[in-house]
Parts: sequence; C-alpha cells; structure tokens
Amino acid sequence: MNHPQPSFSFELFPPKTPEGLTKLSASIDRMNAVGPEYFSVTYGAGGSTRDCTFAALDLLLAKGIAAAPHLACIGSSRTEVRAILDRYRAQGIRRLVALRGDLPSGMGLGTSGDFRYANELVSFIRQETGDHFRLEVAAYPEVHPQAGNADQDLANFQRKVAAGANAAITQYFYNADAYFAFVDRCAGRGIKIPILPGIMPITNFSQLARFSDACGAEIPRWLRKRLEAMGDDIEAIRAFGHEVVLNLCLRLLEGGAPGLHFYSMNQAEPVLRLWHDLGLPGAERL
Ligand code: FAD
Repeated sequence: MNHPQPSFSFELFPPKTPEGLTKLSASIDRMNAVGPEYFSVTYGAGGSTRDCTFAALDLLLAKGIAAAPHLACIGSSRTEVRAILDRYRAQGIRRLVALRGDLPSGMGLGTSGDFRYANELVSFIRQETGDHFRLEVAAYPEVHPQAGNADQDLANFQRKVAAGANAAITQYFYNADAYFAFVDRCAGRGIKIPILPGIMPITNFSQLARFSDACGAEIPRWLRKRLEAMGDDIEAIRAFGHEVVLNLCLRLLEGGAPGLHFYSMNQAEPVLRLWHDLGLPGAERL
C-alpha cells in the first residue's frame, strides 16, 4: 500500500451561478472544519461545465484547501487536456481524479475527441506530467453499466492501474459485500492500490433512484421498499438514511477500507453527521 493513513475526503459539484458559488463557499467552510484530506470537484465530460469546475477550484485554492479536480476525457482532444493539465500544474494542484466521463446526450461517442477510455487518459497524464499528480480513478464494485461482464470490467480497471493510477474511488453502493468481493478480486489480480469506497448519503429517495438508474448503482430491494414507504416524509428518510449509511461506513472501516470519499452533493449537514457519528479525525470540532 502506498497510502498507509486512512483517507477521508469530500466531493463537490461545481455550481453554475454566482449565487450557487456563494452557497458552496459556506458549505466548504463547514466541511473543511473537520480537516478532510482534500475536496474533489466534478467535471462535465466534453468540457460543458469546465469553467464552473475552474471557479469551484479557484474558490478552494483561495481558501488554501487541497483540491482534486476531476478530469473527464471523452470528447476532448489531447491539446485541450494538455492545456488543463498546464493550468492545474501552474496552480499547484497535485491530485486529479482521471475519468472517461459520460458525454451529454447529443454528443455521440467516438465522433470527437482523442480518448476512448480512462486508461488512455491516465497514460497521457503520466506521459505529459510524469509523477506530478497523484491520480485517482473510478472503480465499480457492482460493475460498470456498459461493461460486457464483471471480468472484463475488472480487466479494464486493471488497465488504469497499470497506466499509473495511485488509488481508486468507487461508485457508490449500499451493499458492503459487493465492495469487499471487489477488493478481494483486485487482490487476486495483484492490484495493490487503495480502493476508497464512495459514500452517497441518503436524503432524497426520488433523486437517489434517478441517479442510481443512470449510473448503475444498486439500491437493494429492502432499502428501496423502506424508502418508498416513507413517501414525502423527508425527516423520516433522512433519519433512516443516516442509520443505513452510518452502518455501511462502520462495516467498511471495520473490514479494512482505506478511508471514505463522501459524495457531499454540496450539502454539509448529511456528511458531517456521518463524520461525527463515525468519530472520524476532527469530529470533536463539530
Ligand atoms: P473507464 O474506466 O474508461 O470505463 C468505462 C467503460 O468502458 C467500462 O464499462 C469499462 O469496463 C470499459 N472499458 C474501459 N477501458 C476499456 C478498454 N481499454 N477497452 C474496452 N472497454 C474498456 N463523470 C463525469 O462526467 N464527470 C465527473 O466528474 C465524474 N466523476 C466521477 C467520480 C467517481 C468516483 C466515479 C465512480 C464516477 C465519476 N463519473 C464522472 C462517472 C464516470 O465518468 C462514468 O461512470 C463513466 O461511464 C465511466 O468513467 P470511467 O472513468 O470509469 O471509464
């Protein structure tokens, strides 16, 4: 392992308006109080929301906070990616989340851009910038929805590791066994990088169901049924969702997960409540 200390981090998405950025600034301050290792900022594939990602990053950097931009390569040329890498290097950024991305509907896959898969982006970044960046890549314990099968998906994940990824962050899941089975299968192939579980708090069932359908994350039947039964009772969903995700995190950490990456959805409260109840470093400051 090249990451002996557990890593706890937050993910943000870039707001599209100045008002959104002001709100995000307040959420960042609250979340940063517990001292996460870094904040990552998502990126719209095809460059659609590139400037919003830059603005959110600038906000983090102005606060002196370690920032890890996501970089999705699909639909981009080498020249465009090189310019972004130059910008990030000049800003002193040392960590990236390297992804393929999903093209917004209307932009056909393969019709534009120099990259087909994330392993090609990882290779390109290593070729252009050596070891300057620590590179995180995506992993799918429940199998990426476009993968032919689980073995092919694992082989493709291994390509990203072979190309130079330092660590992986998983798609969110609610079945701890899927994570442990995936980690075991990686170990069986000699993959040694840390695989950080991506943790999605449960606060809104219809939104979660929509996301999960789109990204292939499974909401187990028992969980779906319980949440459905709560209808519009937001308080009940939040309380139950917190208990479910808290227990998931506890199991993951007890089972040896090398940290947690929280999909904050720019909301401080749900992730800080988990942080507090897990007793993670800095929880005493909440
Ligand atoms: P890849 O690793 O390239 O895999 C994509 C698919 O292609 C898989 O089915 C894989 O099995 C297959 N594959 C991979 N390599 C090969 C190969 N060489 N030959 C044949 N098949 C191959 N999306 C965004 O647009 N912006 C973001 O900021 C963003 N952040 C994310 C953060 C995390 C932690 C995660 C888990 C996902 C994120 N996504 C983001 C979503 C992600 O872009 C999608 O899941 C996308 O469909 C796959 O991206 P990837 O990097 O995993 O792709």
